[in-house]
Amino acid sequence: MKFRSRQSCATRWKIATGAVLALAAGAVLAAPVAAVHDLAKKEQQAYLDTLRDLVHIESGSKDIEGVNKIAQFVADRLKQLGAQTEIIQPEDVYRMDDTPEKTGPIVHGTIKGTGKSKIMLIAHMDTVYQKGDLKDQPFRVDGDKAYGLGIADDKQGVAAILHVVDMLKKLNYAQFGTLTVVLNSDEEISSPGSRALITKFAEDQDAVFSFEGGGKDGGVRLATSGIGAAYLKVHGKSSHAGARPEGGVNSLYELAHQVLQMKDLSKPEDGLKLNWTLANVGTVRNMIPPEATAQADARALKVQDFDALEKAMQEKIQNKLLPDSKVELKFEVRRPPLEASDLARKLAGHAQSIYKDELDLEMTVADKATGGGTDAAFAGVKSRGGVVEGFGLSGFGAHSNNAEYVQIPTIVPRLYLATRMIMDISEGKTKP
Ligand SMILES: [Zn+2]
Repeated sequence: MKFRSRQSCATRWKIATGAVLALAAGAVLAAPVAAVHDLAKKEQQAYLDTLRDLVHIESGSKDIEGVNKIAQFVADRLKQLGAQTEIIQPEDVYRMDDTPEKTGPIVHGTIKGTGKSKIMLIAHMDTVYQKGDLKDQPFRVDGDKAYGLGIADDKQGVAAILHVVDMLKKLNYAQFGTLTVVLNSDEEISSPGSRALITKFAEDQDAVFSFEGGGKDGGVRLATSGIGAAYLKVHGKSSHAGARPEGGVNSLYELAHQVLQMKDLSKPEDGLKLNWTLANVGTVRNMIPPEATAQADARALKVQDFDALEKAMQEKIQNKLLPDSKVELKFEVRRPPLEASDLARKLAGHAQSIYKDELDLEMTVADKATGGGTDAAFAGVKSRGGVVEGFGLSGFGAHSNNAEYVQIPTIVPRLYLATRMIMDISEGKTKP
């Protein structure tokens, strides 16, 4: 649905848009696009109010009541802003070892403009926290920091998207083709119910901006690590360890053999890592253990590396120490890697120049993954456009039980940046 202002406002916004276009026409701007910058400044308090409301709705990934509540709140806001909005309850769920019976909803909003560009904004509404944790970390502002449960990861990102859409509406700006908003509520449990949808919605976008927190200096990221998990299960046979050990098949011996023969599959030069980290075997000392399990953590920078790793592991387990044991291996891609693409580099370069030329701010662009994984990776799986992570505010303390905060002085630059990126992409002004 297109933005429509009431007639009385429309004229005023048209004048504002005219000024924006006149300014944006210059080659390198020494000053921010005034209408956008003034509006971002005006928007700061409303942004903080939204952030407070979002923090005050507890939404741990497995708290289905909580995630439904925040989804409804966000969907209502998007509707008010003129977006065609739906709340999707996931059906196509990628079941992993820790996937709960029910996973939370996805809010999907679209706004049609007059142009051709397709731009998608993503963030997640869920947190790692448990219901009841909010009382120890309520929303509060202290100096230039805003504190609260889940405020950095990732309620600031949800609020930013709502206010960027709000700003475009207030600017009466509609030169984009389609603006798509996707907000999921299962990111912290590796997006079992939303991954397929994020990939699908991202497929034909020109640009996807993910609003996880930006770096300390407002940096953005073009690559994130892939995270995998391997589950090894050995079936042996129990027997009395004292009276008849030869009647058993010792699953612990087989497990040890398997783990040791799969301990050198890492390829540090390619960023591929496999480390066995958990094992569970046996119940009592005097029984030959019938079952043994182990888990390994895997990281990769390229999707194919996980495929090759799984193949290598499936081959390895064929070589057994005890022929009578049975060995099974399951491999999960918990999150694929996001690989930096040329289109993403181009978008990030443009973001850098908006920061530098219009706001006189520095921005780093990280194109090597450092170990963390985000939903930007699901957006990147089939996307024909560029995917950039870290469009959110700077902050600190994600996944900690105290003092999670965001930097208030980063609100205006971030609202400004995302709005300006949408404008420049829609007007074909990103650098070649
Ligand atoms: Zn997050």
